[in-house]
Amino acid sequence: MIRDPAEYIELTADGKAQKETYQAFFGRMLEMLGYSEKEAKQKFDNCFAWETMLNSVLADKAESGSELTTEADTYYTRDELLAATPNIPILQTLEKADGYPVMDRYLIPAPAVMEKLNALYTEENLPLMRDYLILHGIYENAEALDWESYTLICDCQEMLSSGSHYEFDKETYDESLVYDDVILRVAWPVSKLYVEKHANPEDKARLSKLVEEIIAAYYGIIADADFISDETRAGAYAKLDNMTRNVLYPDSWDPYSFADVNFASKEEDGSLWEAWRAIKKHEHDQEVSAVTMPFDRTIWDSLPFRGGCSYTPSVNGIFINAAFAQDPNYRPDMSDEELYAYMGAAIAHEISHAFDAEGAKYDKDGNLINWWTEKDYAAFKEKNEKLAAYFNAMHPWEGQDFNGEALIGEACSDMAALKCILRIAAEKENFDYDKFFRAYADRCAVKETLAMAMARLEDEHPMNYLRVNANLQQYDGFLNFYGITEGDKMYLAPEGRVAIW
Ligand SMILES: [Zn+2]
Repeated sequence: MIRDPAEYIELTADGKAQKETYQAFFGRMLEMLGYSEKEAKQKFDNCFAWETMLNSVLADKAESGSELTTEADTYYTRDELLAATPNIPILQTLEKADGYPVMDRYLIPAPAVMEKLNALYTEENLPLMRDYLILHGIYENAEALDWESYTLICDCQEMLSSGSHYEFDKETYDESLVYDDVILRVAWPVSKLYVEKHANPEDKARLSKLVEEIIAAYYGIIADADFISDETRAGAYAKLDNMTRNVLYPDSWDPYSFADVNFASKEEDGSLWEAWRAIKKHEHDQEVSAVTMPFDRTIWDSLPFRGGCSYTPSVNGIFINAAFAQDPNYRPDMSDEELYAYMGAAIAHEISHAFDAEGAKYDKDGNLINWWTEKDYAAFKEKNEKLAAYFNAMHPWEGQDFNGEALIGEACSDMAALKCILRIAAEKENFDYDKFFRAYADRCAVKETLAMAMARLEDEHPMNYLRVNANLQQYDGFLNFYGITEGDKMYLAPEGRVAIW
């Protein structure tokens, strides 16, 4: 229950307040479930006592200086696992109760902790474990029970996070508040509905073509990068080769199917609880079947009905959600110039995150494996430092600095993206540069108060005016088109330019 494990050793005022909040919540929930006040109190005390024991095992770990997660992973065979945990029926639970298949080996992240837990698993402690399971079961499922349980859990969570009660009025309660909860439970069926209504194969094909065009241009950018050797270049090409392109929605809906989920609607006398159980079972079954499969990089970890376009280094994939490709970012009747300025720049920006200071640490499969030679990485680092210094020398208003070091990832991607699009434009006949540059600036146009601007100083993206001006001044394609030369405010001499790629 209580966030900080140290609280189980000695309760502070904050820990005490948390404990009281839980006590009030479980007291009422257990009463509704038919327990007497005395029984409810006993159950709460038992659960707390068991959590205290669990925490003492984990606290030992923290004291010895090594975090749980950094203890060397150890594989156990089935027999070794059985021998190491004579008391806890781990395999029985996994296989009989949870339906996990029999495996040859098991990854144990913290063997020492597992052995200590085994020692706690005694007949004497059984009531404590039972009540721990009852209370945690209540906590996890309260929101799907009746109205009172729902308000109680919301109030409990509000008290824990802000220290004040949640104000409810069933009459005026806005149903839209629960949509987010419900939508996330059925995120993939909702995605499919969204896509049927707001996306289509023609747009998917047009944007997929754009993605390929951008990736082709990046091969050129990597080929021309004079600060890397052929060895590093090969690693960069491999990332492009192997990048998954997830455009608007998945090519197949099969992995996201809810066909096994069955529950009746409200009109057919179904209840939220039955729906909740059916979905939980589906999630559990999916988890069980995923355990025996190798990790699949092609599964979407982004929801098409949510806005956003992103690059995920750990799977080396880009995700262009269907909800992102909507007006003003995308319209089917957009000219090519507008398409490149809006979708093109956004997609190229995301792809180049594969090669910014953070993304460059991951390899073609999304593993944290270095693919740089030492010399090339030193040159890359130096370029990043120069990029940070460029922003550190600028001031949005008098007396205000930027944190250039915090901006390098996004700034690197913005600049690489523009370079990429300008490469593509150079191949086009009758490309309307004026239209393109105006659309490129429009995309970042923003009206904000000084307070909003100040809040944005914390953001890892450069301020919007810089996402246009700082990028454009790096390239002759812009400077020459508008005849910008030394003495003009937008002019930046070649030696002062900081685009990394
Ligand atoms: Zn970005």
